[in-house]
Amino acid sequence: MKVIEKIKAASKEEQEVLFSFEYFPPRTQDGVDKMLEQLDRMSLHSPAYWDITWRDSAAKLSLEMANVMQNLFSIETMMHLTCTKMPVEEIDHALDTIKSQGLHNVLALRGDPPLGQDKFVKTEGGFECALDLVTHIRNKYGDYFGITIAGYPEAHPDVLRIDDGLPTSEGYQNDLAYLKRKVDAGADLIITQLFFDTNIFLNFVNDCRQIGITCPIVPGILPINDYKGFLKMTNLCKTKIPTEITTALESIKDNEEAVRAYGIHIGTEMCKKILAHGIKTLHFYTVNKEIPALSILMNLGLISEINISRPLPINEEDVKKMSSELKKMLRR
Ligand code: FAD
Repeated sequence: MKVIEKIKAASKEEQEVLFSFEYFPPRTQDGVDKMLEQLDRMSLHSPAYWDITWRDSAAKLSLEMANVMQNLFSIETMMHLTCTKMPVEEIDHALDTIKSQGLHNVLALRGDPPLGQDKFVKTEGGFECALDLVTHIRNKYGDYFGITIAGYPEAHPDVLRIDDGLPTSEGYQNDLAYLKRKVDAGADLIITQLFFDTNIFLNFVNDCRQIGITCPIVPGILPINDYKGFLKMTNLCKTKIPTEITTALESIKDNEEAVRAYGIHIGTEMCKKILAHGIKTLHFYTVNKEIPALSILMNLGLISEINISRPLPINEEDVKKMSSELKKMLRR
């Protein structure tokens, strides 16, 4: 089922809040079993969907993870797909593969430049931007896929000024206009880049509505789990951090437990404010950690307990087979 259909159906039910979890493919063979165990536990919380990120250097792994997430756990899965180093034949191979696995959801992205390069350069025979990818998917696959795109409440990092890290008003408006072109080309859902200033997100939603973007806009929430990870992600994404968050974290940065508890507190407050504004779908950048996102959901009353565990396997033979396939890919 397309995620957009789930969101539309839920919007008719006054009280229903949906949530989703984002994962990246495991990087080590040891990580494979841990991830399968975690996905099993997370699946018991019935996320509306979950998604798996894409790395051009690990394409097969993303494809196999997408298959596992959709078919072993029976949770609607959205696979990310970027244009980085992807000629159209490879894009189509990826889309044909997930289609044959029964996935109906793709997050269409341009992608970042490959490691060591500053600027994104179109691959020969590939696409220049997410707009081209969305157009291609709609032209070639019709309505089969629900297409999600990325939105940037603080504008995409490419349009931020170097001196103050802010977009010019023109840069911000151009970014919005371009976002609308992606929607007009066939995208039906927007997930935002992470942010910590909830007002920036709410203003962005308002600005999107002003220029005629009507599709759901889902906030991307990064629960702060540890100080180093927080700095790494926010530097990478050039996120604006409200002064009170910087000050609070500075004073507890060496205390892992305190940082995590603060992250859960801040994440809960952000989500409460967003929900109070009538936005009823929350997307968590889990960074493959389960406790912070689940603690926020507990605080919001959206789940009733965290440590539900059951012994893997759901189906011993299937899990063993999937686990060994994934491990083989990491060995190559
Ligand atoms: P685009 O939508 O193509 O836009 C990029 C920038 O170029 C914008 O500033 C846009 O305004 C400008 N632009 C592009 N074309 C035009 C045009 N024709 N006219 C005017 N302006 C234009 N990266 C990964 O590698 N793997 C992932 O799995 C992944 N998942 C992500 C998930 C989410 C929810 C988000 C928010 C980001 C994710 N990223 C991922 C990062 C993303 O690939 C980068 O942010 C990348 O730099 C831009 O991708 P995009 O799809 O937003 O690009």
